[in-house]
Amino acid sequence: MTSHTESSVFRFGVISDIQYADHDDAKSYSGTPRFYRHSIQHIKDALAEFKDFKAEFVLQLGDFIDGKCKDECEVAMETVLEEISKAGVPVYHTLGNHDLYNFSHRQVVQQLILPSGGESPDIGYYSRIYRNIRLVCLDSYDVSVLGRSEDESAYITGLQYMAANSNPDQNSSEGLEEGAQQLVKYNGGVGRQQLAWLSQQLEAADSSQQRVVVFNHCAILPSASTSKSLLWNYEEVLAMLESSPSVILILHGHTHQYSHNISPSGQHHIGLRGVIETPPGEKAWALVSVSKQEMKLKIYDGAKSVDIVIPTP
Ligand SMILES: [Zn+2]
Repeated sequence: MTSHTESSVFRFGVISDIQYADHDDAKSYSGTPRFYRHSIQHIKDALAEFKDFKAEFVLQLGDFIDGKCKDECEVAMETVLEEISKAGVPVYHTLGNHDLYNFSHRQVVQQLILPSGGESPDIGYYSRIYRNIRLVCLDSYDVSVLGRSEDESAYITGLQYMAANSNPDQNSSEGLEEGAQQLVKYNGGVGRQQLAWLSQQLEAADSSQQRVVVFNHCAILPSASTSKSLLWNYEEVLAMLESSPSVILILHGHTHQYSHNISPSGQHHIGLRGVIETPPGEKAWALVSVSKQEMKLKIYDGAKSVDIVIPTP
């Protein structure tokens, strides 16, 4: 490798589903242990590793704080923000459902998305460009019944999606047909305006030979997730991504499990393990280095790690 090629390398870190709360360890609905306070130690360990790795920025894939913070949510947000700010490099956040159990969509955008490079308190998506890579942050809760007031069009459209779910608890997908099991309250969708914006982002990348890395909270490719953790309108978003030759990687959280799947057009969909369900001493983050030829990922999945290489021709 020549020194010229070496100098074109840049690196970043990825972390997901931190779900910090000042709360005793407990279990998820499905019985998986959750370590609410220990999330802070995981952040410290991840940031130390990102620093050694010389990461230029960090991607945070949503669910920054947990719904269990109850009356102490502002303190929880301050605590976790203060900790992650010690990265000393930009942290690019995306919205998760848990963030919206405690704050309105607008409040989360103000606290997390505007400092990431968002353009307006009403918009939870944005893009950034690093060398020839365009980072596209999608807002999985652009259309949602969480974090919105009843007069907002995002909520009204959200209700239209949720009309398909007649369960008393709309977090349950019981009885929903195949292809509609993502229509639960804890997922959300990408609205018309965001779809038009995404289309422009992809066109701009296609015309300038950039490669696109998409990151967001919900899964987009059915094989990358259980049907219950997909974006409401994953089919529309997937079709748009699949039509762009520039898209190489889609990162998501929400499922709390590591997954790696390749779409029909060859795009890599990677789900990160959730920090919240990672025992002390294990790891749940990713290190990514990008050169002109390839993107190399080291992904920690608890006590194991996986190495993936994606060509960036
Ligand atoms: Zn989530």
